[in-house]
Amino acid sequence: MTANKSLLLLPGDGIGPEVFAQAKRVLDWVQKTGRASFTLHEDLVGGAAIDAYGVPVTDATIAKAKEVDAVLFGSVGGPKWDKVSFDIRPEAGLLRLRQELQVFANLRPAKVFDALVDNSSLKPELVRGLDIMIVRECIGGVYFGEPRGIETLADGTERGVNTEVYTTPEILRVGRVAFDLARKRANRVCSVEKANVMESGLLWRRVMARLQAEEYPDVELTHMYADNCAMQLAKNPKQFDVIVTGNLFGDLLSDLAAMLTGSLGLLPSATLGAKDPVTGRRAGFYEPIHGSAPDIAGKGVANPIAQILSLALLLRYSFDMEDEALAIEQAVERVLAKAGRTPDIKIEGRPVISTSEMGDALIAELEAI
Ligand code: NAD
Repeated sequence: MTANKSLLLLPGDGIGPEVFAQAKRVLDWVQKTGRASFTLHEDLVGGAAIDAYGVPVTDATIAKAKEVDAVLFGSVGGPKWDKVSFDIRPEAGLLRLRQELQVFANLRPAKVFDALVDNSSLKPELVRGLDIMIVRECIGGVYFGEPRGIETLADGTERGVNTEVYTTPEILRVGRVAFDLARKRANRVCSVEKANVMESGLLWRRVMARLQAEEYPDVELTHMYADNCAMQLAKNPKQFDVIVTGNLFGDLLSDLAAMLTGSLGLLPSATLGAKDPVTGRRAGFYEPIHGSAPDIAGKGVANPIAQILSLALLLRYSFDMEDEALAIEQAVERVLAKAGRTPDIKIEGRPVISTSEMGDALIAELEAI
């Protein structure tokens, strides 16, 4: 029996629509397997929505995003919209979507494909086989905490303030996502904060320890200070399985981990909300970590792999379609091992191919699996 799932597709700007076209071909392949059928909705977002509707995301798009089973997003922004006012800039559409969907756990897998070991800035032996998952709390912490602002003091100098705040429920919900993920991986969670100098970190550490003892005694939990974690990621990244951390540290550590894998065009992400206790459903928002790459937009050379791997994460985390997600990841691995490459990951001895040719190669592999 096939399950019908609804999906909102938001390709966005720049290379977004180009890489999305290839992800849609993969979606068609999944439908052809007969395991699921999809009801697809598509809309404009970011600069494209500003041009058409005057805002980077409309209320109707937000309502649709809340109604569907999952959202696949491309990327937004570009020089054309650099001068629009701050509150309706393209990225504001993305932030509003995340906020309205209450997706709070940003999952950034950092996996090194064998064929790309030499693209990493670290020595091959340090990254071969690397497969870590960073879970970043993304709608709380210092980026949103109050009070905040810049004030002028009596002596005419200024004072800028941001506040790191985490509550027990905020820590628990992101902690549960990390522990649940670990159970499907190597069963290890490393919780990262600065409990040595920050009270919010001290609370984070206590809550994570209690959560592990009460609900996840089968999962190994370690704690690490964020500065040490940055060092360890550069020194011996394979020691980690799942890392869970707050917004600010997660922002920095996930970019560091991303660079261990060598290319921006290969990295997907998922952002998940809380599980509905009645339906068991959770909001899921999936996007590549790269932006709209205006420097190469329209040239047909963008690498579609990050967008396609974002679709694989969607199938895994929103639709429980592990077999299809794995098939897509395997197809990527095989194509990287033997086929041509888009310019961002080109190597000597292999033809340089276009975005759509990369799509062709992936579809051919999927059909062979
Ligand atoms: P970017 O990720 O768009 O590009 C950085 C570099 O990586 C560029 O040289 C680009 O050509 C290359 N690159 C990115 N994705 C690629 C791919 N799939 N294949 C091949 N090469 C790729 O970051 P940027 O240049 O800092 O930002 C460009 C625009 O994107 C800005 O308007 C920015 O605000 C926006 N942006 C949006 C998002 C998002 O939608 N989530 C994220 C980051 C940046």
